[in-house]
Amino acid sequence: MRIWLIGAYGIVSTTAMAGAMAIQKGVAPKTGLVSELPPFNGIERYAPFSFEFGGHEIRTMENAYEAAKEHWELNRHFERDILDSVKDELENIVAERGTALNCGSGIEGLGKISTLEDEGMTLREIADRIIEDIKKFADDETVVINVASTEPLPNFNEEYHGTIDGFERMIDEDRKEFASASMLYAYAALKLKLPYANFTPSAGSSIPALKQLAEENGVPHAGNDGKTGETLVKTTLAPMFAYRNMEVVGWMSYNILGDYDGKVLSARDNKESKVLSKDKVLEKMLGYSPYSITEIQFFPSLVDNKTAFDFIHFRGFLGRLMKFYFIWDAIDAIVASPLILDIARFLLFAKKRGVRGVVKEMAFFFKSPMDTNVINTHEQFEVLKRWFAELS
Ligand code: NAD
Repeated sequence: MRIWLIGAYGIVSTTAMAGAMAIQKGVAPKTGLVSELPPFNGIERYAPFSFEFGGHEIRTMENAYEAAKEHWELNRHFERDILDSVKDELENIVAERGTALNCGSGIEGLGKISTLEDEGMTLREIADRIIEDIKKFADDETVVINVASTEPLPNFNEEYHGTIDGFERMIDEDRKEFASASMLYAYAALKLKLPYANFTPSAGSSIPALKQLAEENGVPHAGNDGKTGETLVKTTLAPMFAYRNMEVVGWMSYNILGDYDGKVLSARDNKESKVLSKDKVLEKMLGYSPYSITEIQFFPSLVDNKTAFDFIHFRGFLGRLMKFYFIWDAIDAIVASPLILDIARFLLFAKKRGVRGVVKEMAFFFKSPMDTNVINTHEQFEVLKRWFAELS
């Protein structure tokens, strides 16, 4: 199968590409891949473990190998042999130039960038170019995944975002102030009838106009924002308090990270969407909202080694207050990248089984899953297994 990555030179993208190729060559194990677990035996028939990659980018680099090497030199996040073993394949992946419309001040931290709007293109020209780029690469087994930097919250407009007619009118009227890059990429994918996933908290396909397009074109899509680190632990642990009828009165999450993602997220406008995405989970899961602090700060020397400190204040029998602390100290790209391959496989499976619209059964992979209130990781895993079993 083929995967088109938006943000192809990022650390999650390049680690997913390098990892997939190394596994295909037999030089790396399949640990960390959900789709390889026994309940999903049979996925191979619909989406074999065999990948080709392409994508869009705004950073100007030679190819995916150069990007992967730059990330590797900063992070050393896997054995160097793995990178060397897939050098030729990565060198052949050259991303197309994308758009950064309304991507916020955070992307200034990315260094030298080049975008389609720099050429003075209209919204229609940008959308058409993106569609053309993806079309050249895509076949019947292609999935598009957004792994680009997080955008600020969108400037939601009922007229332009409420229906697909309105959305296309926005493009034709060149109303750039209402479009965001992630919406345009999602539009391109769904227009081409390619399954789409949004691994970021950006708008992507979550606006009503694009949900309508997915339904009308019979395409499955999923998102938003990969659930990989602190939120994964939080949504796995919080149910424990609920099961024992203990009240969570306060939850503080303090995240520090370096790297490009940390740099972009340290910009206030870009951070806002991530904090919201992380914050909502407790309320949805517990049914009430404990006092909560969610903070994300840039800490350069950590690079991709994201560290989260969590403090939970909870009340038990006789109203007694107690405390629980945890520290999550993981390499962000290592926990995120296998999910890119999993999500792509499950979406292709969904397409082949005739699923259209939001695949809410894939909530397991996301912090802010669309169209479902199932946030508890244990329940989400059961839902995913049942869905897969029923459809296959
Ligand atoms: P990164 O900064 O290494 O990669 C992002 C890439 O996207 C960069 O190469 C950047 O140049 C590119 N980019 C930015 N805007 C673009 C645009 N408009 N079009 C095309 N390319 C664009 O970040 P990362 O650590 O790889 O994370 C990628 C995304 O995934 C972020 O939005 C992050 O919040 C999200 N995410 C990551 C994790 C994780 O565990 N790592 C979990 C959930 C979500």
